[in-house]
Parts: sequence; structure tokens; C-alpha cells
Amino acid sequence: MVGAQDRKPRARERDPEPAANRWRPSQLHPATLSLLFVLAGLLWVLCVDPLLARWLDAAAQAPKPWPSALAITLGGMLLYWLLQARATSARQTQDLRLAEFIEQITDVAFIKDRQSRYRLLNAAGARLACRPLAECLNRDDLALFPPEMAHRLLEEDRQVLAGGALLSCEHTFVLQGDTRTFLSTKWPCRNAGGQIIGILGIARDITARKQVEERSERARADLESRVRERTAQLSAINQDLERQIAARIQAEIALRESEERFRQLTEHIQEVFWVHGIGEERTLYISPAYEAVWGRPIHGLHERPLDWLESIHPDDRARVQAAHVAKQCSGHFDEEYRIVRPDGAIRWIWDRGFPIRDDAGHVYRIAGLAEDITRRKLAEDQLRRQQVELARMARLSLAVELASSLAHELNQPLAAIVAYTQACLALLRQDHADPRVLTGPLDEVVNQGMRAGEIIRHLRELVQKHPAAQSALDLNALIRSVVHYAQLELRQAGVVLNLELDESLPAVLADDIQIQLAVLYVLRNAIEALNEKHGDPRVLTVRTARMDPERVLATVHDTGRGFSQEVEAHLFQPFFTTKPGGMGLGLSVSRSIVEAQNGQLWASANPEGGASFHFSLPVHPDT
Ligand code: ADP
Repeated sequence: MVGAQDRKPRARERDPEPAANRWRPSQLHPATLSLLFVLAGLLWVLCVDPLLARWLDAAAQAPKPWPSALAITLGGMLLYWLLQARATSARQTQDLRLAEFIEQITDVAFIKDRQSRYRLLNAAGARLACRPLAECLNRDDLALFPPEMAHRLLEEDRQVLAGGALLSCEHTFVLQGDTRTFLSTKWPCRNAGGQIIGILGIARDITARKQVEERSERARADLESRVRERTAQLSAINQDLERQIAARIQAEIALRESEERFRQLTEHIQEVFWVHGIGEERTLYISPAYEAVWGRPIHGLHERPLDWLESIHPDDRARVQAAHVAKQCSGHFDEEYRIVRPDGAIRWIWDRGFPIRDDAGHVYRIAGLAEDITRRKLAEDQLRRQQVELARMARLSLAVELASSLAHELNQPLAAIVAYTQACLALLRQDHADPRVLTGPLDEVVNQGMRAGEIIRHLRELVQKHPAAQSALDLNALIRSVVHYAQLELRQAGVVLNLELDESLPAVLADDIQIQLAVLYVLRNAIEALNEKHGDPRVLTVRTARMDPERVLATVHDTGRGFSQEVEAHLFQPFFTTKPGGMGLGLSVSRSIVEAQNGQLWASANPEGGASFHFSLPVHPDT
């Protein structure tokens, strides 16, 4: 407010003076105007008029001026009265307009005396005091308003009276339960001598404007706080983004480094690393080793994705193709196959694939490793051939060994045949001999002959070299037949034999001749171990049982001398032996035989002494 008042005069200085404010004769005071009129009349009558008369007619007698002067004076008085009446009327009109204006304005306007009593108050002031105007006049604020408000108003009055300057301030009061804000301006009222005789004032109810200002202030504060919040959020988001970008850059660097390491790895390993898309016949990546192993260019594989399949040996192709199709569903692939290189060379490949899943767990790629196992395969073939040869040789040497003992075994049935035949002949030579008595001895002759034939047949089978021919095999029957071969040795060693064979044992899938050989080696070792032990008991137990749904288990348990931990570590090594005349081949050949039949052979030391040899064989799938 004060600033606004300060600016107003300056604005007036710049403006040209309006025409209405310029001086006009009618603005002169009536008395001044009347006096001027009288002086002008008197000047005319007393000075100008005699001079004119004398100049026009020197002989003429000078007119008497006093009546005219009196008339002029009276005229001047009349003029004064008229002008005074007109001015009074104009002032009254102006006062009326001013009073009407003061009454009509919505602001409170007032004039107080030095005792702060209201000498003039407009209708708005009376409404504020909630009293008729007549009750307000000649009373001070204490009589009209609540004490707190009245004291503040009186304090302002004191300041105006003491300072003699304009005072403008805002108040917020509670009036009739309403909180209202006023902008009040007060200034001293002075008399013609400049003495302060009272206070003039005007008070404007700015409650609505204040509320609007407060609302807009609150809205502005709210807006500012929201802007601050939003700025903070944006700043946080920005920081987060910066962090994410930094992390992403780090991740990208790490990824690039990892890719570089991966590239170095895949490009330098001898295995072929490949990545295949699911549902699309396309190799996404294949390492350079492909060219070395397959002997074909990588770009050819990208141009013709099934190039690798075409390079597979015709005998393996159908199987690998089927596995390749299955791989597209399961993601898994594990095949050994041969490839034919463009130069005609054949290579063995061991190819394994595993699924790569996305975040949802769906397989979307297959990665794999193809290894050139040609050398291993050749070595395995070589070993297999050697093992077969070894087995054959071992069987031969065994057969030679057995031949001498079997000769002894054969002696017995042959001797029995001779004896029974001689008895028959003796009976036949007797007169009146009943031929029916010959039936018994002749049956024995037949039995003994059959037994001898059986022994010989088995011997032939043992020494016969023939490839493994797997078939459904009754393991219990096989063990019984091998025990039969070893009867002589068992008897000579004074061994007690226990057969604990599970009669519900299912058939196994194996080559009977080879398994016989393995069982025979293990039995012989057990008999020799029992022979080396002094004193009783000399017990050999052979057990069979079902190991699990897919396998059966056979155990040869002896109470022989057993073996040390050191010996145990070498038991299955070829040519390892602790016997003076041993070859050290029996167990290694036996293990090869059993493993060739998809079984396992192992040994364990018995807690009570002696050793146990166990072997498992697969159950025949049709069982
Ligand atoms: P060898 O014909 O020389 O005995 P093997 O391979 O049959 O060759 O056996 C190797 C070694 O394993 C034997 O020399 C022996 O020390 C040990 N061995 C095999 N079976 C038994 C057993 N039942 N008890 C104790 N030691 C055994």
C-alpha cells in the first residue's frame, strides 16, 4: 500500500496537467472577485470618468463621483453575496456528494477526534460494529468492538497521533465468529493551523482477497512442493538411470570380455563347439575346429545347414538323424558316430548337446561339443582285440591246465563205464541170466558216457574262439556247470562249497561261454587262496541275488588268505600276481569280460577274513 502511494505522485509529475485543474477566474474567492469588481468600478468612477469628461469637454463641470461609487460598492456587495451563495451551494452539493460517496463505499470510512471517538462513521463502519450509526458516534473502539481488536485499533490511533504520519497495516480479527482481515489506513486530521485535531481513516475488508491469496499461496506452496518432489523423483530416476547405464556399460564390458574369452577358448580348443537354434535348421555358431575335424569349410555349413549330417557315415546316419530330431524337442543329444571326410578318411565323433533355456525355462537353443575320438576309438578297438585274444589265450592255457585234470575226471566215468560193461558181459556169459538185470548197469554206462561227453563238450567250448553272443542266460545254471568243472580242484583242496542261489533270479543278458570263463577264474582264485591258508574253515560260498530291477548280483565268498590293501589296489591290473607261477591275467580278463557284457566286477575283503568277488550283469529285457 505504502509503495502504491509512493508511486502515485511520481506518476502525476509525469502527466501533463489536466484542463479541468487549470486556473479559471471563477475559481477565485467570491470576496476577492467582489473586491476586484469594486476597485475596478471605483477606479473608473473616480479617475477614468473625470479625465474622459475633461478631455471631451473642458468647460463641462466634472460629474459628481460619489453616487456612482456608492452604487458600485453596493453592486460589489451584491456580487459578493451572489458569488458567496453560489459557492456555498456548490460546496454543499460537493459535501452531499462526498457524504453520499462515503456512505456508499463498502470500505469503512471514519473520522475520530483526539480521544479516538468516532465523529464520523459511514454505514459500512456501523455494519462492522453491528450497531445503528447513531450509537457509534462519539464512542471509541472499546465501546464498539471486542477488546482485543479495540486495543489494537486504539494503539494505532496513538501511533498516528504521536507520529503525525500515515499508518497502514493489516489486521485479522474474529468478529461474530468469522475471521476477517482488514487493511486499515489512518492519517492525522489537521486544522488550518496544522495542529492534529483527529484521525481520518479507511479500512477495507480484504478477507476474500486474503483467502484467495492464501489459497493461491497454498497452491503455490503445494505446487512448489510437488515440483520439489517431482524434481527429487526425477533426480532419483536420473541417478538410477545413471547407475543402470553404468551397470549396463560394466555388464557390456564384462560381456565383451567374456565373449572374448569364450571366443579364445572356442577357437583354440580341439573340440568343436556349436550352438543350434530350436525349430530352425540353422547352426548359429560353430567353432573353427569344425574345419579341422570335418575337413569342410564353416561357410558351407551356414549355406547348407544339413551339411554335417550328410558327412555322417551311412551306417550311422539314420541313428544320428533320429537323435537329431529328438534333440529338437528334448534339447539333449549324446551320440557317437563316424564321419567321412572329403578325403575319404573316417573319423569317430562324440557329440553331446545340452539345452539352453530362457528366463521362462523354455529351451530356445541347444549348445554342444563334438569331440574327435578317433584315436580313443582305435585304442579301444585295439584293446578289445587284445582282450579277446588274451581271453582266448587264457582260455587255451586254462584248457591245457584243465585238460590234465579233466583227463583225471574223464578217467572216472570211463573207468565206471568199463566196470559196468564188464559186469554186463559177465552176466551175459552166465546161463539163464535174466536180461532185465542188465538194465541197471547199462543205464549207468549210458549216464557215465553222457557225463564224459558233457565234460569234453564244455572243454571244447572253452578253447573255442568265438565272438561274444549275448542271449538270455540262466546264471544259476551257469554257476552250477562251472562248479562242476572245478569239482576235482575243490575236492583236492578239501573245500566246503555252499551254493546259495536265488531260484527266482531272472535271466541275464550275456555271453554264456565268456561268463563261464570269468566265473571259473574267480573260483580258481578262491580255491588257490583257500589252499594257501592253513587250517580250517575252508569254505567257498557262491551266492546269487537280484541287485536292483535292472541287474543281478553274483558273489564268490571265500575264507582264504584274503588280500592286503596294497594288493587290493592292483588286483585287476593285467599281469599283477602274488603267486610264484601266476600270470596275473585272470582277474583283468574277467573284468573285461564282465564289463563287455555291461556288467561290473569288483572285490572286497571280508571283515572276518578271506575275500569276496562280486559281479553284476544286466537283466534280460524280455524278463
Ligand atoms: P594269477 O593267475 O596270477 O593269480 P589273477 O588275476 O587271477 O592272476 O589274480 C591276481 C592276484 O589277485 C593274485 O595273484 C592274488 O594275489 C589276488 N587274488 C585273486 N583272487 C584272490 C582271492 N580270492 N583271495 C586272495 N587273493 C586273491
